[in-house]
Amino acid sequence: MAETKRDYYEVLGVQKNATDEELKKAYRKLAKQYHPDANPDNKEEAEKKFKEINEAYEVLSDKQKRSMYDQFGHSGPNGYSNDFSGFSGFDGFSGFNGGGGFDVDLGDIFSSFFGGNARSQKRNGPVRGRDLRVRAEISFEEAAFGVTKEITINREEQCDTCKGSGAKPGTSAETCKVCNGTGQVRTTQNTILGSFSSVRTCEHCGGSGTIIANPCPDCKGRGTVRKQRKIKVNIPAGIDNGQIISLRGEGEPGLRGGASGDLYITVSVKPHSVFTRKGDSLFCDVHVSFAEAALGAIIDVPTLQGTEKYDLAEGTQTGSIFTLKGKGIKNVNGRGIGDLYFTIVVDVPKRLNNEQRELLKKFAEISGQKFDVGKRRKFF
Ligand SMILES: [Zn+2]
Ligand SMILES: [Zn+2]
Repeated sequence: MAETKRDYYEVLGVQKNATDEELKKAYRKLAKQYHPDANPDNKEEAEKKFKEINEAYEVLSDKQKRSMYDQFGHSGPNGYSNDFSGFSGFDGFSGFNGGGGFDVDLGDIFSSFFGGNARSQKRNGPVRGRDLRVRAEISFEEAAFGVTKEITINREEQCDTCKGSGAKPGTSAETCKVCNGTGQVRTTQNTILGSFSSVRTCEHCGGSGTIIANPCPDCKGRGTVRKQRKIKVNIPAGIDNGQIISLRGEGEPGLRGGASGDLYITVSVKPHSVFTRKGDSLFCDVHVSFAEAALGAIIDVPTLQGTEKYDLAEGTQTGSIFTLKGKGIKNVNGRGIGDLYFTIVVDVPKRLNNEQRELLKKFAEISGQKFDVGKRRKFF
């Protein structure tokens, strides 16, 4: 059974006419709230929510995708995909022009997508290349300070041998004689109700408008070959888990002069053994002894750069939170640097030697403890 998807506007809790600013605000708030790191007790549920939020924002923050979503919902224009990366399928108009349907003016239906340029979007017109999606895993520090990563992707690229024509070198593709290169065949039928014109895909050339008599041996006439590519990605300082970097034009090549698709890299940040993060703020615990907390001390606080001395006041309680300004994470959009918050945890000694025990008893006595300190009350 197909999972039903929630409406993207509902996911972000905004109105259908929400402005870009409102979308961004709602997204930021929810992403913070449902970040898996911020929900250690309910990680799985939070992760699901977090993904949903990201997906909704990815679509609604993109003008073109949003407008398509508004018109067709999750299923997309042909109902063939709920993945908005699958836009390359626009040449699959078979539902409209296949099987001798009436001569529907596709221009009216599709002009909203192609800026009124729908007429050129025939089967043999240019088609934008497919978008690619990959994950890149980086360390907590790499996310904090930025890093250049080399990622490996597999993508279709233009065949070098035939320069993308699909024809064996020295030969060339010929214009299909049946459809004269249009990729479509129009037939007019006279009936008692009048004459109907119908358009269908040219069977001779499969709609491409060209016939390749001698296919290129390397790509078998496809014009593209699958290649493994290493791509250097500059990951900016301050990037957070789940954020997406897009590289324009690094997806698969378009067909017949169409633009290349984009490459989307979802960044996955590994957790840190000492720090947790919420936005640009860092959090950690600092353990101190009872004596340090009671008497005050200069303590070492861990930071991402090393350690920092901190003057702990006398009588500090366990659970107290202190701040190191500017020792958090650099904002990914260049809006300053966050702070580091550390929580004091006062450790109770687990084992005492005789001298320590005596001193503590003495301490309790002087403090006026009423019952016998050091003698455990037994419960049955
Ligand atoms: Zn080739
Ligand atoms: Zn043809």
